[in-house]
Amino acid sequence: MQDMIAQIKTLSKQKKAIILAHTYQSAEIQQAADFVGDSLALSLEASRVEDAELIVFCGVTFMAETAAILNPQRKVIMPDKAAGCPMADMISAAQLRQFKAQHPGATVVCYVNSTAAVKAESDICCTSSNAVDVVASLNPDTEIIFVPDKHLGRFVEKQTGRKMIMWEGCCPIHDMLSADMCKEMQSRFPGIPLMVHPETKPEVQELADYILSTGQMIELAKKNAAKKFLVGTEMGIMHALQNAVPDKQFIHLNACLLCPDMKVNNLAKLLKALQDEETQVVVPPEIANKARPALQRMLDLS
Ligand code: SF4
Repeated sequence: MQDMIAQIKTLSKQKKAIILAHTYQSAEIQQAADFVGDSLALSLEASRVEDAELIVFCGVTFMAETAAILNPQRKVIMPDKAAGCPMADMISAAQLRQFKAQHPGATVVCYVNSTAAVKAESDICCTSSNAVDVVASLNPDTEIIFVPDKHLGRFVEKQTGRKMIMWEGCCPIHDMLSADMCKEMQSRFPGIPLMVHPETKPEVQELADYILSTGQMIELAKKNAAKKFLVGTEMGIMHALQNAVPDKQFIHLNACLLCPDMKVNNLAKLLKALQDEETQVVVPPEIANKARPALQRMLDLS
């Protein structure tokens, strides 16, 4: 494995490539990457890429599309384009247009876990790190449509006190985590703080000590006095947490939190992608040009 990582790093340097990986990617992909982060950090990194000629995105399609929208002059490739996101597919651009027609004048806030075509129909994007700030920044007199994640939406409603018109989508992986699973682990490990992702169900969030994006979880683990944490988000975070804070212990809540799409990539596919410079992610210019302002408006708040 270390040999293949070394080959990937050498080839990446020769090709002036930058490898971006989401924190839910497997441990070996994270080790091969130049930058590992959550959606916001990766969006920012993609917007700041300067001297790289090739962006290799290890994540799911909507993330690579975001990198392509923010870097129209660069080639963006994915090791395997089969890595999709069931939540992103829960709303289409046509469905959003219909929804908007039912609520004329509403501002559309779109979680980045959505297709480029849906972003193109939206006013501003958000990630799980900045969704509260994005919604709080909007004119208090405007109606807000929030798509596609109802659980993140409810979390934002609670934090901001703003009622929103919600699309009924969710992440099928985080949605599998139940309150009973949390209670069982809390009784096995009493006194250990529980952090969960805002894509989890409201009743799970009720039981948590912290509701955080993956990037925020890593920051909390670094700064908080606790030595152990219960972790309620996709399994890939365990490597990122342990890597960032090696002297603390992280206990994953349940094996149901494993996203098959996030695990489609592997080192062999990453190496081949770099060798062949395939498979390219192309967002048609007419969609990219409409989606970019919604992403840029979010990045301007960061
Ligand atoms: S963890 Fe959920 S939101 Fe993330 S890619 Fe998988 S299905 Fe989509």
